[in-house]
Amino acid sequence: MSDLSERIMHAAKLLRQARYAVAFTGAGVSTPSGIPDFRSARSGLWEKDDPLEVASLTAFRYHPDRFYAWLQPLVRIIYEARPNPAHWALAALESLGCLKVLITQNIDLLHSRAGSANVMELHGSLREAVCGRCHRRWPGAPIIERFVVDGAVPHCPDCSGVLKPDAVLMGELLPERVVSAAFAAAHACDVMLVAGTSLEVMPAARLPYEAAAAGARLIIINRETTYLDERAEVLLPGDAADLLPRISAAVSQSEAYA
Ligand code: NAD
Ligand code: ZN
Repeated sequence: MSDLSERIMHAAKLLRQARYAVAFTGAGVSTPSGIPDFRSARSGLWEKDDPLEVASLTAFRYHPDRFYAWLQPLVRIIYEARPNPAHWALAALESLGCLKVLITQNIDLLHSRAGSANVMELHGSLREAVCGRCHRRWPGAPIIERFVVDGAVPHCPDCSGVLKPDAVLMGELLPERVVSAAFAAAHACDVMLVAGTSLEVMPAARLPYEAAAAGARLIIINRETTYLDERAEVLLPGDAADLLPRISAAVSQSEAYA
């Protein structure tokens, strides 16, 4: 058996025997769906502007038109994207009872669309838009549908205030209830499966650190190295869309023989 296959079996065993396993994902699980991440080698979308600057709360407040012009190609890609085998495998692991919670930094809704039920969206999502003036929330889908076609800054139907996607921008506070639930899950879990995240965005990147400090075993799947690689019990360098289905297949096979 190759070293990689052994590591996959080891990861499957940890998940099968876990009392409370939690997954933690980032933009890397959605790159196989065609959605670029922010920190891999720059893809065409980010060549002109630094997403970390344009996608800030200040940029949104002062130049909503520029913010939305930058956002349009990304939203169009997300709108057209479909879940990939990484999302399906995580949903399958939840159905098998081997994952209790999935914490994601992604705003693209692909985990829910793939069938994951217990999802914590740490950075919000495109499910809703919020009015900056009257704070009313609106369903995201019809707004996105119009926006990908006309690219115009969306306004509140009630008060004409500028609408903001319910996704956390740089410099914006994270939704408090979700954050405390995610940290509680990190403290409670005995296994954390980390996939497709550079672990460079705080405070999200502290979740696996705190899980490990509280005694959880870490499985880390990523194309590049992360600051927690040496704390991982199982380190799987590579493509999440290849590795996660192999882990979930190994879990289902061993269940069949159990
Ligand atoms: P990131 O861009 O910082 O890091 C992504 C990591 O995934 C990188 O280390 C990269 O090497 C790795 N990676 C890329 N494709 C992979 C694959 N197929 N298999 C395994 N690893 C892969 O992403 P992040 O840590 O999630 O932080 C970026 C922030 O930007 C997040 O907070 C998120 O809210 C937001 N964002 C979201 C989306 C989305 O919703 N799909 C896309 C881009 C950015
Ligand atoms: Zn309003």
